[in-house]
Amino acid sequence: MSRVLIIGAGGVGRVVTHKCAQLPEVFSDIWLASRTLFKCDRIAQEIGSSRVSTAQVDVDNPTELVALIRRIQPRMVINVALPYQDLSIMDACLETGIDYLDTANYEPPDVARFEYKWQWAYQQRFSDAGIMALLGSGFDPGVTNVFIAYALKHHFDRIDTVDILDCNAGDHGYPFATNFNPEINIREVTANGRYFLDGAWIETRPMEISKVFDFPAIGPRKMYLLYHEEMESLIRHIPGIRRMRFWMTFGDSYLRHLEMIRNLGLDAIDPIEFEGRKIVPLKFLKALLPDPASLGARTKGKTNIGCIVTGEKNHRPVSRYIYNVCDHQVCYRETNAQAVSYTTGVPAMIGAKMMLEGRWKQAGVWNMEQFDPDPFMEDLSRFGLPWQDLACDIDIDALPDS
Ligand code: NDP
Repeated sequence: MSRVLIIGAGGVGRVVTHKCAQLPEVFSDIWLASRTLFKCDRIAQEIGSSRVSTAQVDVDNPTELVALIRRIQPRMVINVALPYQDLSIMDACLETGIDYLDTANYEPPDVARFEYKWQWAYQQRFSDAGIMALLGSGFDPGVTNVFIAYALKHHFDRIDTVDILDCNAGDHGYPFATNFNPEINIREVTANGRYFLDGAWIETRPMEISKVFDFPAIGPRKMYLLYHEEMESLIRHIPGIRRMRFWMTFGDSYLRHLEMIRNLGLDAIDPIEFEGRKIVPLKFLKALLPDPASLGARTKGKTNIGCIVTGEKNHRPVSRYIYNVCDHQVCYRETNAQAVSYTTGVPAMIGAKMMLEGRWKQAGVWNMEQFDPDPFMEDLSRFGLPWQDLACDIDIDALPDS
């Protein structure tokens, strides 16, 4: 009996629930719980399976969460709520002795800095309790980590450089909207950039460095250097990498709006006084923007996320480009969600499947690159995210910057 508890009924929660429901031989029994019950019920209804049950929970209330886990008794918790909730859910898993998985690392609500240190600090306690936490089982982090582990296993004796390239060429028709939680998205892209070079992190101003890259199946797009969380764990777990960078594409309209948001101070996360009560400007902005979960039907176009890896095999230089292309409308037809939710939700399901099948199973706190990439890569192709693994000769530094 493999009962799972999925927490979070947003865009990603919808995809995870759909995908788990498609695999009764692995996920015999699915509970979807979130702060707003009707969102869970709506997803359960559209799936229409008697194996999906729903519950209301506020995971910021530890007693409520522990009581829910004890009542349901799942084999594991799949956390697809927000990064702010990671630690309270990990605490509840420790208290109840249940395995844990998430797709984004912990971020304190009042500091826009996501780091693994808070979750890695659980290593000993998870290990002592004999339970497992799999961190970052989305696409990036997640699949990108697995791509690097796969490249190292099959193509390289030593990896020198990694460039992770994330392109979303989807068009939802709004002048400004974010494809996943606006608060998390805006915090991520307005932060300083950072990349790893020769043993040190180099900080850049937001959007300071850009290149135009010709993405397969999409075409040329301008991409900007950002900091992204998988780089922290990859640098720690794959020794010898000399340079690692992360790039994400943004359209001109998105960037114009973002600049205005910043100029107006609407991206601030410190509370301000407004008509006798405190409000957080970024949370207020989130309330005004389209719900990312509602973008699915409108979004057309493709995503392409992948890694360009260079290094050496048998003393000869090697360069590979491993990537996935995903179509927003194809994802929507299958799960009522757009490709950004889909490319996160499918790997979350596969990560949970790896754990339940015992293929990735070890007490403690783990990142994706620490396990054998092969069964995960096979499942990506089986469950909707096929990938290409090509020899390449791409010099990102030689690309034009506009
Ligand atoms: P959404 O904002 O659409 O959904 C989040 C859900 O979590 C909502 O249903 C929300 O409930 C629920 N939630 C929030 N707080 C609580 C709480 N205290 N108790 C119970 N439920 C709560 O986000 P997404 O679905 O877009 O993203 C989900 C996660 O996936 C995020 O952590 C995000 O950072 C991560 N992500 C990872 C990616 C990757 O590639 N690794 C890419 C994209 C996203 P309510 O509806 O009541 O607000």
